[in-house]
This record gives sequence, structure tokens and C-alpha cells, in this order.
Amino acid sequence: MKNLGTAIQSLGLLKGGTELPRDISDRLKSLAASESPRLGDGPTQIYLRSLVFRKGILFGAARDDQGKVLFCAAGEQPSSGLGELRLARQPAPEGMWVATAEHSSENARALHRLFPWTKPVSLREKRTTIGMGDRLGLATPGHIRAARHYAVSPVLAQQSVRENDFIGRTYEDVVTNATWGVFQEGYRGGYGADGDHLKNLASIDVALAAAMPMVTLDLTEVMRPEVAEWTPGEVEQGFSELDGTFRQRVEAEYSGQTFTIGESSGDEVSLSLDPLEARRCAVMYGPALAFSREVNDYIDSATGGAYDLEISIDETTTPTLPEHHLFIARELQHRGVLVNSLAPRFIGEFQKGVDYIGDIDEFEKQFRVHCLIAREFGGYKVSVHSGSDKFAVFPVVGRETGMRLHLKTSGTSWLEGLRTLALYDPQTYRSIHAFATEYYPTALTHYHITADFDSIRPLDQVSDAELPQYLEHVAARQMLHISYGGVLRNRAMAERLYASLHLLEEEHARVLEAHFKRHIGGLGVPHT
Ligand SMILES: [Zn+2]
Repeated sequence: MKNLGTAIQSLGLLKGGTELPRDISDRLKSLAASESPRLGDGPTQIYLRSLVFRKGILFGAARDDQGKVLFCAAGEQPSSGLGELRLARQPAPEGMWVATAEHSSENARALHRLFPWTKPVSLREKRTTIGMGDRLGLATPGHIRAARHYAVSPVLAQQSVRENDFIGRTYEDVVTNATWGVFQEGYRGGYGADGDHLKNLASIDVALAAAMPMVTLDLTEVMRPEVAEWTPGEVEQGFSELDGTFRQRVEAEYSGQTFTIGESSGDEVSLSLDPLEARRCAVMYGPALAFSREVNDYIDSATGGAYDLEISIDETTTPTLPEHHLFIARELQHRGVLVNSLAPRFIGEFQKGVDYIGDIDEFEKQFRVHCLIAREFGGYKVSVHSGSDKFAVFPVVGRETGMRLHLKTSGTSWLEGLRTLALYDPQTYRSIHAFATEYYPTALTHYHITADFDSIRPLDQVSDAELPQYLEHVAARQMLHISYGGVLRNRAMAERLYASLHLLEEEHARVLEAHFKRHIGGLGVPHT
């Protein structure tokens, strides 16, 4: 990076040698939540919030139009204190030593050891968390700037195996990108990393190896949804094949029982399981519950107890019945599974990247019961998947959970990246949009989406100034949303997109910040 040494020198940061000069630290303290200034007049700039002294060495993040690096600087070459960073010595003015490290995974791991706040942590004790999946690996600064305004903890690294496979990323990459964003922003509030929708121990291992403390266990494949349709005779047969102790407990604790919950909140609800339904639950969820216990113990020992387990039963075709949620919650508690959050499938449609589709009153009625169950049996957070852009139900979600919630978002940040291009780089936006128009039918095979794609205005009839309107149009949003895999696998297009968003870094961060403030504010999360 050209003239990095001079850029550092011109800031006068090394004069004291062990701490940031007064004017810089004063300025850091007075920064507004969204402010993240860069220092330097030339093409090489330094991120003010990243600056930190450790053992007499100044560390920071710098950028030019081509890329970003971590730098270390001192009066002379330090004999220790650089950890395992792989450094390249850089030219520097007299009386100064400067070296840089690439934004690699190895260096991210070295950074975790030097500055532990750059490493993802368990957020189990945090009341409100928000999952901010970042397909591009560029969104962390914008995410942090939104989160800083509120009493919310961000899960900055979050991908499912499927999303990673689509675009050739690994969990290591995902955590690495978040790490550099956290360092650049100097964010010390603690962030999570979520191996999303994992279905087996092999994929959990990959997430744990990448230092992800959160695991979202997707029980879809071990649950037996077909049992919901079984005749009484079939249920009896299935039930008779289960373990005897489990059967006895189901008979004694659920069969013909009524559970009254929410008494303390003055919001009483009674849920009953007749003998057939109790047995049906046992057959449907028995194997999934046993597997949850196995996974819990596995992660517990791998992480030394600092983990966030999310149980996901949302990828089913029918909404989770409150009685079934109760059965699952109570059984997880009985088995000692430490549930941090649980994602039921709610009534209505939670399609990706667009608002809630369905009856809001009915949603509210059922959502309240799910929250009461979560509070009563384990006190876990209710997790809302495909939670982005559900502005119509955010007030209900915030109120009924009492902010004890996890909201999971992912593709919406990709869309905000495209919005940034639509606003500031129309040519790049147009090429991606044109590609998506051709590509989306292929992508549709992976997504459940009902949109009127014919309602999308043809690109050649839309002026540059109107391009951002596509990001307000439901069908266009969904088309762009599901096309990310195709766009990012197209090397030339991906390179163009990354180069543009690098130049538009500040604009991109501002667009993301505004979008996520709408989400977090819409839930009613208190300001900090
Ligand atoms: Zn989900």
C-alpha cells in the first residue's frame, strides 16, 4: 500500500508510543454511533476506530482503492508483541517501522489471540440478538453501525451450508470477513457467529473449527412430519416401538393433560394433549429430541460450555402447533438441552426479503402462545427466521417476546448491496439485474417463492434515477434475492461487484445502517 508509512507518520500517532494521542482519543470518544471516519488525504487512508496500541505497537486498518490491510507501526522493529501475524515489511520514513498483514484467515486467527474482542463469542446472556448474514463478506461495518445505536448484540457471521455451497465460501471465510470488519470498526461489544441450519455432526464440526460459538440445529431431517397425517392405528404402532421409559413418561406427563401457561403474566392459555396427540408427538419428535441431546453434549464439550444452541423446526410445510412446541420445549428441558433460542414455524408466509404475508391478528394470537411456552419451559429466546423486512409484524414480535428474541436475517444485506449499486453505480447494477433476469428460473428450484415476476419493469425502460425502485418492488426483490448464487459464481461479475462496493464502502455502510435501524427500531429495541 503506497505511502502507508507517511500516512501513519502524518497523523503523529507514534509520538507518545504507548497510547493514542489526546486529540485522537478525544475524537474517538466523541464519535456518534454511525460515525466511522477515515484519516488521511491521499489514496491511502486509515480507519480511526481501528487504531489500538498494544505493547507499544500501533495496530490499525488501512485501505486504498485496491484493497485493505492491517498495519503495525512502531519507532523501531519490535522484538515481540506481534503474535502470529504474517507480516510484510513496508517502506517507512526515518525512525519508523511499518509492516502490513493481509486479510487472510490465518491473520484473522492471529488477530483473535492479540485482540480477543475480534473473536466471536457466545451471546447466551444477551437479551436481544440479531443475525446479520452477509453473503458478500462486506456488510459488517454497516451492520455494526446500526447495532451500536441499540441494546442489541449482532451475530455478524452467519451462513448456512447451502448458502456457502452456492457461492464457494467456507465457514472460515465467513468468520474471517466478520473479524476484519469488527477490527476496522473497533467494535468491542461482542459478536456472535452462527453455523446456520446444520443437520449433522460433520457440518457442526466444520462450524466449530471455524470458531463459531452458535449452532443452529435444523431438525427437519430427523423430525417425522409424515406422522402428522398418520391414522390412530399407525400412531399406536409407531409409539409401541419407542423406548419404554420414554413411553411411560409420555403417558404419565402428557397423555390427557392440560397445561396452563402464562399465569404470572395474567395472560393465561391452556393447552391440552389428548392421548393420541401425546403419542403422535412422541413418534414425531422422539428421534429429533434424542439427537438434540447428543448435539448439545457434543458442542458443550467442544466449546467448554460457551455456546449458543438454536433449535430450528421452522423448515416444515405446516406451522408449528403450540401443543407440539410445548411438547418439544418440555422434553428438551427434561433432557438438559441448553436451548438458547428456538425457531418454530409461524403461521403465514415468511418469504425471504419481503414483508410478512398473512393475517396479522392470527399471527399475533399464535405468536403470543409460542412466547409463553418459551418463557415457561427454559426461558429461551424465540427465534424468527427469514426475519428480514417483516416490518408489519415487528411491533408484535418485539412486544410479545419482551425483546427476548433472536431475529435472523440474511439475504436482505445482499439486496442492500445491490441498492448501493443502483444508487451509485447504475452500470454495474444494470449488468447484475440483466443477469438475474436470465438466471432466476434456475434459482427458483431452490426456493419457495410466490411472486409475479412478470410485473418487473423491463430494464431498458427504466432510467438510472429509477433503478433503486427495483429494491422496493416485491417481485424484483425476490428475483434479485434468489439470484445471488449465480451472480457470485460468475467470476467477472463478482469481481466487478466487489471492486465497485469497495470504492463505495461508505455509501454501502450508510445504506445498510439505515436498513437495519428500521429493523431493530421496528422491533422496539431500546436505544443505548
Ligand atoms: Zn430457518
